[in-house]
Amino acid sequence: MIIRNCRIRGKEGLFDVVCENGIFQKITPHKSILEEAMEEENVFEAEGRMMMPPFVEPHIHLDCVLTAGIPHYNMSGTLFEGISTWHEYKTTQPLVVSEIKERAKEALRLMAEHGVQFVRTHVDVTETSFKGVEALLELKEEMKGTIEIQTIAFPQNGIMSLKNGKELMIRAMDMGIDCVGGIPHYEYTREYGLESLKFIFDLAEKYDACVDVHCDEIDDGQSRFLETLATMAWERGWGKRTVAAHTCAMGSYNDAYCSKLFRLLKDSEINFNSCPAASTHLQGRIDTFPKRRGITRIKELSEAGMNVALGQDSISDPWYPLGVGNLLRVLEMGVHVAQMTGYEDLRHCLDFISTNGAKNLCLDQEYGIEEGKDASFILLDGKNDMEVLRFLSPVVLSVHKGKTIVEKIPAKAKVLF
Ligand SMILES: [Zn+2]
Repeated sequence: MIIRNCRIRGKEGLFDVVCENGIFQKITPHKSILEEAMEEENVFEAEGRMMMPPFVEPHIHLDCVLTAGIPHYNMSGTLFEGISTWHEYKTTQPLVVSEIKERAKEALRLMAEHGVQFVRTHVDVTETSFKGVEALLELKEEMKGTIEIQTIAFPQNGIMSLKNGKELMIRAMDMGIDCVGGIPHYEYTREYGLESLKFIFDLAEKYDACVDVHCDEIDDGQSRFLETLATMAWERGWGKRTVAAHTCAMGSYNDAYCSKLFRLLKDSEINFNSCPAASTHLQGRIDTFPKRRGITRIKELSEAGMNVALGQDSISDPWYPLGVGNLLRVLEMGVHVAQMTGYEDLRHCLDFISTNGAKNLCLDQEYGIEEGKDASFILLDGKNDMEVLRFLSPVVLSVHKGKTIVEKIPAKAKVLF
């Protein structure tokens, strides 16, 4: 397959890209390959559109997607009503592996349409039938070579605050879940939260797994599990394999504490994840006015050299009723609420939903537009980051390891004046 006449994000000029046997064989300036050497059926004419590595979804709950409204909608819009509505769902609806897989697959189709090829999903391990775990492990195997999935054991109702919380986490890891999750701010006490973090890192070491924790997802400036998470990652040399998700409380920390905290965060080398659409929707609900935005310090963390990836968290579930799998919409929300709309910010904004996510997922050889790497890429109907975000440009072609998984012809409006 040859992609003719494309831009490549971050490079000057136009290129022809040759993919063979699932890898990038040759990337050359446009027209340096003789036209007659190209067999027409293998050539995709890019018309100057931008090629880049695929989008990465670092934080979603595939076991919960597309369940909004069952048994009822989240009427208050709070995180806690989301958790209790999900609890009702899982204790009143018959949980069937094939049904969970079909919902999750439908969400993956939506994401694929919008350029996602790598997904890290949580799966609730406090749903004790473990149908969600079974479903997502099966789906992960079935989707290999089309969309790559990493799974996280997520203790929705806590680890220490459940009599058998630790056993459930161990059982999930034994079944083949990839990463260890947590929810320290939701545990009954601060002490339980701290104890859960120690358990999480012990488990990660035992199973040689990444850590990806829902951390301080609350508008409580006193919720400070992040400092313990980062310290443990630093002590154990686990920073590059650790993600602190949400850290909403950082939006409420005072500046003196935050500036002290940043030194540790940087030394720890941990990664961050923020879900600006979901968090802006869920947080700040108990405030009157001024109303907090409920998101972490995305701009400040990035400017201090730390890695922050943006994710969706939800697609039409008890926590968030909207979402169509389009990370550009999440990014659009993110750059607004974090005030990253300056020229320099917008020039590189797609990092947040691509390369930064790849770091969270510890992707390496399989990620990037370079000769010799896996031929996984998307072609966007735009020329640069700012244009793509501004027009929410469609993905016209998505290729994973040399296999085309999505083709799209963008709609053209006929404006009659
Ligand atoms: Zn989440």
